[in-house]
Amino acid sequence: MRVPQIVRTESIRRQRTLARPVEVAGFGFWSSKDVVYSFQPAPEDYGVVFVRSDLPDSPPIPATVVHRIHKPRQTSLAVGEAQVDMVEHVLAALKGARIDNCKIVVSAAEAPGIDGSAAAFVDALLEAGAEEQAREKIRLKIVSEGEFTDESKPNGGRIAITPSERGETVFEYELRYDMPGPIPNQKARFNFSQPPEVFQREIAPCRTFLTFDEATYLRSQGICARVGASDVLVYGKDGPIDNTLRFDDECARHKTLDMIGDFSLSPYDWEGEFHASKTGHQQNADTLRAMLESLDPNILQ
Ligand SMILES: [Zn+2]
Repeated sequence: MRVPQIVRTESIRRQRTLARPVEVAGFGFWSSKDVVYSFQPAPEDYGVVFVRSDLPDSPPIPATVVHRIHKPRQTSLAVGEAQVDMVEHVLAALKGARIDNCKIVVSAAEAPGIDGSAAAFVDALLEAGAEEQAREKIRLKIVSEGEFTDESKPNGGRIAITPSERGETVFEYELRYDMPGPIPNQKARFNFSQPPEVFQREIAPCRTFLTFDEATYLRSQGICARVGASDVLVYGKDGPIDNTLRFDDECARHKTLDMIGDFSLSPYDWEGEFHASKTGHQQNADTLRAMLESLDPNILQ
């Protein structure tokens, strides 16, 4: 592990919140439970906070990496007994729509799965519109190269972090399997100097994917009972079952979306390039945690 050097740099934008509340309803893929996620405007420096309105005293759960708990194949956050599950696409949508401060009142733990993408969330957020707030968004700049590798397995995931010569924020994901399979190797990239509408068009609609064997296993465990093959991307040996790709590299774009959600679990904007290969939610979050832990608290004041 090599943590890059990070400095605070001049902010280039003000914080933003929603212009009005907006809701997204559906059911959770894992839990099969009906749920409403209600996105509401919030004051500056509030950040993104989930509120479990279905639990006694409506406990708040801030979307920061310190509240992240390990659950396979998803991003979950917890404060005490209160949890929210599968929130990575919600978080990516907020980042993509540049909504920094938002209270999300939720009626059950797991976010609506919809079609396994972030499209419904981004569409709702952009439809509601945004308002600029007085305070600036803190911007942290990567000034030296960093590298994080998963040493727990051979050919594990890797994240290389590099300064951006043009002062941009870039997320790139390389999807690569060591064995032949139905999903071809592919790479995708998103540059945050583009407006939210480009994120809405190019990244948000990209759906989660799994192999037929994985889907069969989950079903056998009683999970994902309400999800059909046409709802997300299920890969058989000849490609997606009962479905067509929205982009040739939809899987890599989805992993880029996941990565944007995972790296949004802090109150900061980043200036630099994040190149991930074969990583999952856990490694993305561990990388973010290590970067935040390396920060001198003085630079944030
Ligand atoms: Zn995902």
